[in-house]
Amino acid sequence: MEDKEVIIGKYKVKVIRDACISAASCVAFSPAVFQLDEEAKAVIQEGATDEEANILLAAQSCPTAAIVITDTETGEQVWPK
Ligand code: SF4
Repeated sequence: MEDKEVIIGKYKVKVIRDACISAASCVAFSPAVFQLDEEAKAVIQEGATDEEANILLAAQSCPTAAIVITDTETGEQVWPK
């Protein structure tokens, strides 16, 4: 299955499903955006919004770097670096 990309503010956010090990730290940092699905994999909520700082912290907290963030204004990958 293709990993879905979601635009939130200036960020494009993606969870690499195969890399997610269900640690749920992303959910702790940004529960508005990240939730675990029935397979305990992180999914991005439809229409989710949160402070960019929280989304970045969520991505940085992921032990497997399964959350990829791209800045839509610059086209640069913000995380992982
Ligand atoms: S922190 Fe990473 S490994 Fe843990 S649930 Fe979130 S995306 Fe998956």
